[in-house]
Amino acid sequence: MLYPAKLLRLVLPVPLDTAYDYAFPESERVSDYPEGIRVQVNFRGQVVVGWLRAVIDAAESAVPVEKIKPALAILDAEPLLPSSSLELIQFAHRYYQHPLGEVFQVANPTLVNKGQSPPSLKEKCWFLADEHYTPRPSAAKQIKALAAIKSQGQLFVSQLNDLDVTQATLKTLVSRGVLDMQAREKPKQAVVCHPAPYPLDTQQKACLDAFDALPEGYHPVLLEGVTGSGKTEVYLHLVERTLKQGRQALILVPEIGLTPQTLSRFAKRFGCDMAIFHSSLSESQKLVDWQKAKTGRADIIIGTRSAIFTPCLNLGLIIVDEEHDLSYKQQDSLRYSARDLACVRGNIHQVPVVLGSATPSLETLYNAEIKKFHHWVMGERAGSAKACEVSLFDIKQQPMVEGIAEPLLDDIRQTLSRDEQVLLFINRRGFAPVLMCHDCGWVEECPACDVRLTVHKAQGLSICHHCGGYERTPTRCPVCQSLSIEPQGVGTERLALAMAELFPDVPSYRIDRDTTRKKGSMEAMMTALHDQGRAILIGTQMLAKGHHLPNVTLVVIVDADAGLMGADFRAVERFGQLITQVTGRSGRGEKTGRAIIQTHYPDHEQLLKLIHFGYRRFAMDILAERKRLNLPPFAYMALVRLEAREQQEALSILHQLIEKAPRGLGRLLGPFASGLARRAHFFRFQVHVYADSRGALQALVKALLTESRSLIKHRHRFSIDIDPQDMA
Ligand code: ADP
Ligand code: ZN
Ligand code: ZN
Repeated sequence: MLYPAKLLRLVLPVPLDTAYDYAFPESERVSDYPEGIRVQVNFRGQVVVGWLRAVIDAAESAVPVEKIKPALAILDAEPLLPSSSLELIQFAHRYYQHPLGEVFQVANPTLVNKGQSPPSLKEKCWFLADEHYTPRPSAAKQIKALAAIKSQGQLFVSQLNDLDVTQATLKTLVSRGVLDMQAREKPKQAVVCHPAPYPLDTQQKACLDAFDALPEGYHPVLLEGVTGSGKTEVYLHLVERTLKQGRQALILVPEIGLTPQTLSRFAKRFGCDMAIFHSSLSESQKLVDWQKAKTGRADIIIGTRSAIFTPCLNLGLIIVDEEHDLSYKQQDSLRYSARDLACVRGNIHQVPVVLGSATPSLETLYNAEIKKFHHWVMGERAGSAKACEVSLFDIKQQPMVEGIAEPLLDDIRQTLSRDEQVLLFINRRGFAPVLMCHDCGWVEECPACDVRLTVHKAQGLSICHHCGGYERTPTRCPVCQSLSIEPQGVGTERLALAMAELFPDVPSYRIDRDTTRKKGSMEAMMTALHDQGRAILIGTQMLAKGHHLPNVTLVVIVDADAGLMGADFRAVERFGQLITQVTGRSGRGEKTGRAIIQTHYPDHEQLLKLIHFGYRRFAMDILAERKRLNLPPFAYMALVRLEAREQQEALSILHQLIEKAPRGLGRLLGPFASGLARRAHFFRFQVHVYADSRGALQALVKALLTESRSLIKHRHRFSIDIDPQDMA
C-alpha cells in the first residue's frame, strides 16, 4: 500500500480544539483545495461533516501514517464560505475561546452543517417556442400569459400569482408546442425605494448628514434616540443609501415575532429581495435565504442574533436595532454577543455599523463617551408626539385590588372613558408566583430547582418557569391537609381576569409567552390594537420591544420593586432600560401619554434619577459607580460556571481551579452559588474573573480552561462566559 503524500486537515463538529487529519477520498485526485470547503468523514463510527483548514504534507501530521483513514467525500468544489465569514468564525473562536468546530456549527444553517448543497435559485420558467400562435379571443388566461411572455421574454412561476394565471394554462400551451419550459434563475430585480411618508425632521436629518460625511470604511455609531424619536425612519434612509450604492444591508432585530411592525416597514419601503431569518422558518427555507444573501440576490437581510453570521457578497451596512437587548447574547454553547460581533464584522467588511437604542447598554454608552463610537442623539419624539410624563406612586399602605392601588383604578377608568388604551406591565406570567398554605406556611416548590412553582389557573397547573416541570395545583395542603391554600401575588393571568371583571365591557389583551405561542398571534393582537379605541393590555417585557401603539396613553408599571431587588450588578441597568422602554409605549400618537410606576420605595435614588432626568443621566450615574467599583466596562470580565449534582463536588472543583490559576493576571472571586442555586437537580456555582486588560483576561481564561481539563468530568456542566450578561 502506498502512503499518501498530502492530507486533509479538518475541523470537526466536536467540542475539542484538535485538528483531524484524513487522507483524500479514494475517488478524488489529490489537489490543493482551499480553506472552507466541506469534507465528509467517518468519525468514531459516525458520518460527520468537517471543514477543511488546509491541505498539509503528510509529514506534518502527528498521526502515525498507518492510522490515517481516507475521507468519505469532498462536498464542495470551491469554499462554501467567503473569506469574510471564515475570518468572523476564526475571531469568535479566539475571542470566546470556544472550539472551532462548534463555532462553525453555530455560525451556519443546520443543512449546511449536515453537508447539503446550497439550493439552486432556479425556478420554473416558460418562454415562447412558436411565435405565430394566436389564442382564441375567449382564452383570457392564455392571452395574459402570452402577452407577459412576449413583453419580458419569459415568465417565472413566482410571477403567476400576480398575473392570475395558473400552471395548467401554461401546461396546455406547452403541450401544443407554443411554449417551452426550463428551470432558470430569475434576473435580479432592480431595487425600488419608495418615498418616505414624511420629510425628515431636523434631528433625523442631522443623523443622515453625519452618515453622509463618513469616509469609506468601518465606523461604529451609537444612534441614541428616545422611544418614538424616529430611529426606524433613520434606518430606512440609511438602507436606501446603501441599496442605491448596489450594496446589501444587514439588520439585526431582537425578536422578529415581537416586532412584525418593523419588518413590514422595511418590506413596504423597498421593492427588492429580502432574506428574513427567524425561528419559525423551515430549515430548507433558511438555506434558500442564506444562499440568496451569500450570492448577493437578497439586498436586505433581516434576522435575529444568529443572522450576524450570514455570508453577504457585497455588504454595505450593518444595523443593530435595540442594541441593549439581552437576546443578542447567546446563553449556551458559543456564548457570543451578536452586537459585539456586528462591530467585528463591520471592521472585516470595512462598513458602518449603527447600533440603535433608546436605552443603550453601558458598554456602548461608554464606547461613545471615549469616542470609540460616533454618537448620534435624537432627544425629541418625532411628529407631533410629546414626551411621556412619568411619575412614582407610593403604594405603601394603599388598598390594593389584585396588584393595582385603588386610586389608580380611577386613572384607568378615566383613560378608558376617553376611548384610549391602558397598558399594565408586570414581568411575571401566570396567575400567581406563590402558592401558600394559610394555616401552616407551606409553599409549593419545584422538586428539581430552588424556586417556587407558578400557579397557572386556566390549566389548573403549577409550573416551574426554570425547568418546565409541572404538577396539578393542589387544593389541599400536603403538610397539614388544610383547605386554605391560596395563591399569593399577581401575574399577568390574574391581572387580566381582574380587569375583565372590573371593566367587563372593555376588550382586554394579555400578552406573554403563554398567549403568544401560536405563530402570528402577537401580530394579530398588535394589529387589532393599532386602530382600536379603548382597550386594556396586560403584558410582560414582550411589550417593551418597539411596538407602536398610538392609542396607549396610560402605562402602569405594576411591580417596579421586583426589578430593584436584582442580585447582580447589571440588575439596575436592566431595570432602567425596561422601565424606559415600557413607559415609552405611552403617548406615541397625537395624544399625550402618562406612565405611573407603583413602588414601595418612592425615595429610591436611582429610580428618581431615572424618572426626573431620563435614562442617560441615570446611566451615566451607574457608569460612574461601575468605575468606582472597577466593574465592566472598566474591567474585563468572564464568568466560570459549574453545575453538578453534588454540591460539595462542585465547590471543591472550583476551589481547586482558583488555587491553580496563575497569579498576577487578574482577580478571581468566588465560588458563589448562582442566583438560581439549583436547576433541574443540578447545583449551580460560579466564579467571577476580572482583569484590567483584554489580553490579561484572555490569558487567564486560557489557563483556567487548561486546568479545567483534568478537573471536569463528563457528569459536570462547565462553561466560561466571556463578557457575561446574564449572571443568574
Ligand atoms: P423609534 O424607532 O425611534 O421608536 P419610529 O421610527 O417608529 O421611532 O417613529 C415613531 C413614530 O413617528 C412613527 O409612527 C413614525 O411613523 C413617526 N415618524 C418618524 N419620523 C417622522 C417624521 N420625520 N415626521 C413625522 N412622523 C415621523
Ligand atoms: Zn398547611
Ligand atoms: Zn424546576
